This record gives sequence, structure tokens and C-alpha cells, in this order.
Amino acid sequence: MSTEPSPVPAAARPPAPQPWEVPVVAEAWRELEAKVRAARPNDDLTPLRKAFERGAWWHRSRKRDSGLPYILHPIAVSAILADEQMDMVCLQVGILHDVVEDEDVTVDDIRRQFGDEVARVVDGVTKLGKIKLANAEERQAESLRKMLLAMTTDIRVIIVKLADRMHNLQTLDALSRERQQRIALETLEIYVPIAHRLGMGKIRGQLEDLAFKFQDPDAYKEILEQLETRRQANAEYLVQIKSTVEAKLARENIPARVEGRLKRPYSVYQKIKRQRIGIEQVYDLLALRIITDSVKNCYAALGVIHNEWTPIMGRIKDFIAIPRPNLYQSLHTSVLGPGGHSFEVQIRTEEMHRIAEEGIAAHWKYKERHKGPADDDQRIAWLRQLVEWQKEVSDSQSFLSTLKVELYSEEVYCFTPKGRVIVLPRDASPIDFAYAIHSDVGNSCVGAKVNGRIVPLKYNLRNGDVVEILTQSGHEPSKDWLALVKTSRARNKIRHHINATEREKAIEIGAKYLEKESRRLGVSLNKISKERLENVAAEYGLSKTEDLYAALGFGRFSARHILHKLEPDLVPENVEPARPVTVPVPVPGGPAGAGQDLVLKVKGIDDVLVYRAKCCNPIRGEAIVGYVTRGKGVAVHSLHCKNVQSLLYENERKIDVEWARAVAESFTVKLIVYSEDRPGMLHEITSVFYNESSNIRSVEARMDEKRNDDSAIVDLTCEVKDKRQMEKIVSALRRISGVRDVERVQ
Ligand code: MN
Repeated sequence: MSTEPSPVPAAARPPAPQPWEVPVVAEAWRELEAKVRAARPNDDLTPLRKAFERGAWWHRSRKRDSGLPYILHPIAVSAILADEQMDMVCLQVGILHDVVEDEDVTVDDIRRQFGDEVARVVDGVTKLGKIKLANAEERQAESLRKMLLAMTTDIRVIIVKLADRMHNLQTLDALSRERQQRIALETLEIYVPIAHRLGMGKIRGQLEDLAFKFQDPDAYKEILEQLETRRQANAEYLVQIKSTVEAKLARENIPARVEGRLKRPYSVYQKIKRQRIGIEQVYDLLALRIITDSVKNCYAALGVIHNEWTPIMGRIKDFIAIPRPNLYQSLHTSVLGPGGHSFEVQIRTEEMHRIAEEGIAAHWKYKERHKGPADDDQRIAWLRQLVEWQKEVSDSQSFLSTLKVELYSEEVYCFTPKGRVIVLPRDASPIDFAYAIHSDVGNSCVGAKVNGRIVPLKYNLRNGDVVEILTQSGHEPSKDWLALVKTSRARNKIRHHINATEREKAIEIGAKYLEKESRRLGVSLNKISKERLENVAAEYGLSKTEDLYAALGFGRFSARHILHKLEPDLVPENVEPARPVTVPVPVPGGPAGAGQDLVLKVKGIDDVLVYRAKCCNPIRGEAIVGYVTRGKGVAVHSLHCKNVQSLLYENERKIDVEWARAVAESFTVKLIVYSEDRPGMLHEITSVFYNESSNIRSVEARMDEKRNDDSAIVDLTCEVKDKRQMEKIVSALRRISGVRDVERVQ
């Protein structure tokens, strides 16, 4: 929140000047005001004045690196925008562009005082400012450029940002060498290509030369010197060819203005670098530009030029017939002029020239300067061109109507905390991000922070999000993630991990299954050689014993079949249809062996791995349902088990099971008895089991710490034949005087 300017206290003598009254500030404002006034004498400049005063107030305590008041920078940015004839919104944003980022001011403050449009553009500029471009690796420049455009819903955000950058470069001298180079490089890699893409040739050229000066000071100096030493000769030569062209065009009745110019230092530099030559070998430092009234006269002028001087083969380019993607149109040719010097000639119409210089910015220019009704059509043509060029935006009409530029809407650009850009498809989740960094990061991902806040893993990442992945070693990817991820990389990695884990489990289960079954059938596995096992595996087309165990664990073969192969004499190859399957089920914590086998029948299937689910531990007599797990055979749950309700959404994995007839079997059940703590209580409890012939495996009594009275809790593990027996035991326990409740632990 901002504070209003405090009234100057009456006692203060002399009154301190308001921030906008400081002489150097007031002077800068007068220049800006004069500039705008001259270009648009009929406009009301009150909104601009207001932006200036508020901006000066908000930045009142801040200084530039040079020590001057900070507000001089925003005023200068606004002046650059005024030079470009940008509209009033741009000029206001120029002055206000840093207040949200640097001062205690919110976008809402701006909206209240300057309206929606100004607030929206200030917000956009602020967001771009938050992106740490400098930390990014060089190869990510293209991603960053795309992201800047993707984040831009109003092209004026970019225009203000480019003006901001321009002024920063103009005042770079006060900074350290290192920062100068960083800003220069960032300009050349990020901002110059954006200006180019948007067709803003003039700004692009200025940015290039400004940045070049800091990026390679020696080369810059050398080129300037070279241009300087030839200046006189070049100037004379330019006058000569210019007047020749003007005379020839006049004779052919082609209306035109001819501009002679020296090539810019940066384009000379690029030519030297590209052709690996010294500057003394660069001859066409000169260029002519012919601006005429119609396309027809462009080609006519080209004929005049080629008639006068010999064109250099391969240098004629017709960007009128085939415009550049950024809508640039012009004819280019290079010719051998008087004295054998080559120079370039560009020929275009006024309108083409405007587009070449200003690009998309032309359409946000101060309105009075526009002549003709074509403006809105032009603007739309621009956007349509951009869209077609990107071929990624599906619904171009809807955004054309809102004049939004969403060039890369199918992608989102996010950052690691260190500033690396991660490009993901739209609606990607933090899990996609984690796998994009590294599969280990993905596998051990337990959560994510976006812009410093914890988000759910189903969060849809947005442009500019800084994403920090929280990991925990040993954590495993979940199958549910498959529904959240958008990238095939993440999907494949998750599947791979799950398959590998399930295989490991299957191998373990398969080995146990074989061992248990061998004991039951009286086969001594120890006496069977490794080779023998491998041979049997090979008979099933498996290369390793491990694969055989895995196949057993997945329920693809029965242990009995394998044992028959190993010991045909001991194990007969009989298969009784629908024979109940007996499978060892380890009871956690219980002693191994005794009475743990359960008898379950899977309808229609013989010899598959069946076990009671640990979560509900169903006992004989209870309604049950089977669930085909991946890698562990069939899990049998109580029909009322909470887990099974959610598991059974995959209906095809549901399987009917029933309790098979069996003689001697028992189920382990855990009970908790809540009772009074009185003498003889434990004896009475244990008597119930004795009377029911139920075996107590363990019993443990403790005080109920949650209650203040003489309450006790008795934990019991016992064996029961079935549900009916358990119910009898529970009701007998409840009848004991002093027993408050009995609970079965699932
Ligand atoms: Mn700035």
C-alpha cells in the first residue's frame, strides 16, 4: 500500500520540495512534457502528469547507481516511448513500470488510480522483470524468448520492456564491467530477437549497437575507428551515388526519396564474424534506401538500379513477393558501383518502411498520426500473421478479438530454483517437472513448491512458475501419478519403475511360493541343482531362474507344475479342476509355521497365488471378494473393506472368490478388550478362549492412558476357525462384568 503525500507542515521552513519538485526531476519532466506536447498539441496530459507525480512520490527514497533520483529512469523510458509515438497508456506505464517491482505499491493501487489498462500493462512488465534471465544457461535463450512472448497478453508490455532495456543500456557506464557484459549479452540473446520477431527494426538496431559496445568493447572501438577513417570518403561516395539514383528515378518519373546511410557497427561486426574477414575487406559499408509510393514503382526502381550498375549475383532478394515471417517487406540488391565498390540498395514503399522500422509497435502508436482506415485491419493482419507463423494457436479468432498474443499456448515455461528453464506441455504437473529434471528426482518426488508455496501434485504449472521439487529418498512413484502427468517421459519412467518394483516383489513371492509348495509336496528344493532349475526355466522360455520365480509370483504358472518338472516321480502331474488353492500367507509378527495356511477358492481358476489382504484380514464366513494384483496374485478382501471399495474401480481386476471347504484351518484375529482393571479380569478373559478351544497366540494388558480411572486395555491375538466362532468369543467377552467394549483390529 502506498501512503499519500503528507501535507507540508506549516512550521517547516523552508518547506522540503515534493519529490517531483526536485530541480533535476522537474527538468526531466518538462522535457518529456514538451516532447509529448509538440507531437500531440490537443491532448490532455493530465494523466501523464499524474503518473509522473505519483511515480516520483513512490520512488522518492530510491536512487540510481549514478546517485541521481530513481524517477529519472522511468521518465527517460517514457521519453523513449514518446519518441516512438506510442500511445498514452504506454507513456504512463513507462513512468510507472518499476513501482510495483521496486516499491511498496500493488497492481490494485495502480488500477484504482490509473485504470485497468495501465494496471494490466504494469503487471505484465513486473512479471517479466521477475524472471531471472541472467541465470539461465545460454542454450535456453530460445525458450526464454518464447516464454516472454507467451506471458505477454498485451504487446505493449514488450514495447515498454524494450524501451526500459534501451535506457538501461544508455546508462550502463555507472555499472561494473561484469554487470555491463551480462546485461549486454542478455539484450543480444533475448531482447534483440524479440524485437526482430515483432518486426521492430529500429529498436532492434539501437539495442544491438548499444549492447555491442559493452559486449565486445574492443571490436566495437575498432569498427568505429574504421568507419571514422573512411567517413570523409564514404560521405562523398554516398552523395555521388545518391544523386545519381535521384536523377535516374526522376527521369523515369518514379517518385521517391533516397536515403544514404552507413551500415550500423553491429551489422558490420556480424558480417566480419560471418565471413571471417577483416574490417578492411568489408566494402559495402554503405547502403542506399529508396522509398517510393507503390509496389509497381519498387520493381521499376530496381530496374533503374540494375540498369545503372551491375548487380552482384545471388544478392537480389524479393521480400515483397515473399515477406519475412515478421512481415518485413522490401527489395534488396547489391551492386558494383563507381570505382568497383559494392553497396546495398533497399527498395520499399512508405508503408513497408513503417512496418520495417516499427513492426507490431506501429499498431499501438498515437492515433492522430494514423492516416487511412486500415489501422485495425493492419493490426489484425499482424496478429494473424504471427499466429499462422507459429501454427500453434488453435482458436485464432477468439484471441484476435481480444488482441491477445498467445503465441505458444501449448507450452508452459517454468524454472528450477536456479533459473533453468523447463519447457513442458500445457497443464503439466509438478511430477512432469520432476521427471524433466531427472528420473531420480521424479521417482523420489513427494511434493512440490511453486513460487515458494506447497501445491498439490495435480497442480497445473503456469508460465514463469518457479518450481521446487520436494524429494524423499526411498519414496516410490504411485500408479495414480499416471493420471496426472502430461509428458510421455514421466509416464514411461513411472511405468518402468512400477514394473521393476512389481517384478522384484513377484520374484520374492514366487520363490516363497515354490519353497512352501515343495515342503507341502515333500520335495527337497535344496537337493535340486541350480542348473536343473535353469533348465526348467528354459523349458518355459525363460532365461533365468529369477524369471521363473517372477512368473510364479505373477501367477502365470503354478508351483505344482514346476515341481512336477523338477521331480516328476514325487509330484504327479494331476490337475483337479477348481481345486482349492492353498497358499502360504505370512502373518506379520506371528510365529512362522503353525496354522497359517488359508484355504480360499478362486472360482474357475486353479493354482494361483491367493492371499488374505492385510488391511482387513478376512476370516472364514465373511463375505469376500478377490482382486487381481499386479505381481502378487489374488488379494482377498472383506467385501466391506474400505480399501477394496477404492481398488475395485478397475472392474476387470475383480474376481469372485469363495471360502473352500476345509478341515483343519484357523485364522488369526486381533482383538482389543477395553475393561475395568480389577483382580481376576485377565483370567476371566482368557477363560473365554479356553472354553471356545481357541488358541491365544499373544496377550498383553496395559493401562488406558487416555482415561483417568482404573481402565485397562487388553490386546489379544488368537486363532479362530471362522466368523461364527469369532462372534461367539466376542459376545462372551462382552458378557464379562467390567468389560466395556471389544474391538476387532483390521
Ligand atoms: Mn526499469
